[in-house]
Amino acid sequence: MINRDQLRLQKQQQCEERIAAVYRRLPKLQELDQAIGQKNIAMIRAGVLQKNNAERDTLRQEIEGLMQQRHQVLQENGMDETIYEPDWNCPLCQDRGYTEPGVLCSCYQKERLDDLFLRSGMSEAMRQFTFENFETRYYTNAEDMDHKVRWCRQFVQQIQQGKCSQCLFLTGGVGRGKTHLSAAIANAVLENGNTVIYRRAADLFELIRQYRYEENRQKFEEMLEQLRTCDLLVIDDLGAERTTEFVIEQLVILLEERNYRNKPWIISSNLSINEIISTYNDRTADRILDKAVLFKLDMQESIRVAKAKERMMAF
Ligand SMILES: [Zn+2]
Repeated sequence: MINRDQLRLQKQQQCEERIAAVYRRLPKLQELDQAIGQKNIAMIRAGVLQKNNAERDTLRQEIEGLMQQRHQVLQENGMDETIYEPDWNCPLCQDRGYTEPGVLCSCYQKERLDDLFLRSGMSEAMRQFTFENFETRYYTNAEDMDHKVRWCRQFVQQIQQGKCSQCLFLTGGVGRGKTHLSAAIANAVLENGNTVIYRRAADLFELIRQYRYEENRQKFEEMLEQLRTCDLLVIDDLGAERTTEFVIEQLVILLEERNYRNKPWIISSNLSINEIISTYNDRTADRILDKAVLFKLDMQESIRVAKAKERMMAF
C-alpha cells in the first residue's frame, strides 16, 4: 500500500520546485506573490486586532488588484493558477485517502482491492471470471446449475457477513468450469474487501514444503497463519499434485484448522469423493465431508468443445 504522507510530501515538494523554476523565468511573478503574501498577513493582523473595517476593505481591494495582475502575467506565459496546486494522483482527496475524517476515498478503496487481489495469488486472467459470464446453458441440467450459482452467491454474502459455516467441494472433469466458478466466488469475495488465498494444490504444497526447510521459522509461521485465517481459501485442482504423506498431512491439518475456526474453503478436483478417499485417506475425506457442500459440474463435453461446435454451426 502507498505511504500517503510520503506521497503528499513528495507532491508538495515537486510543486514548490515547479514554482521556483517559474520564478527564475518570471521574477515579476515572484514579486507579485510576495506582495500578495504580505498583504494577506497584514489583513489577518488587522482582523485579529479588530482595527477599523476601512483598513481591511482597502487591503482586500489591493489584494484583488495584485491577483488580477498575477492572472495576467500567468496568462501571457501560457499558465494559470493551477501551477500553485500539487499534481495530485487523486484531486478528490489530494492523495490523503479520505475525503473527510472517517470517509474513505474511492482511490483508497481501489488501492485496497488491487492489493487484496495481488495477495490472493490469482492471475490477471482469473480476474475476468465472474458469475455474470458463467454460462449455465452448457450444463446437462441448466436449471440445477442456476440453482448452484445462486447458492454460490449466497456463500459470498455469508462470508462478507462473517457467518459462513459451510464450504464447497467442486468436482467434475477437465473443462467443466470448476476454475471459473471458484474464481467467480473468489473475485466477488475480494470485491467485498475480504481476504482470499487462491492456489493450485500442487503449488500450495510445494510452497509449504519449501517454507518448511527455510531457516526463517517466522516466515513459515506467518504463511501458515495466513492460510489458516484468510476469509476464503481456494485449493484448485486437488489430485493433480504428487501425493505424499507430507501433502496428506498438511492438507488435513489445514482443513482441520479452518473447520475449527469456521473459516470457509473451496476445493476443486477432477476426482470424485470416492477417489479422494482412495488417493488420500478417510481422515481427509472426513474433513471435507464434515463441512462441504458437494457440487458436481456435469456436461456432455467440455465448454471449450461446446463453444467450438456452436461457432461451427453459425459458420
Ligand atoms: Zn482519493
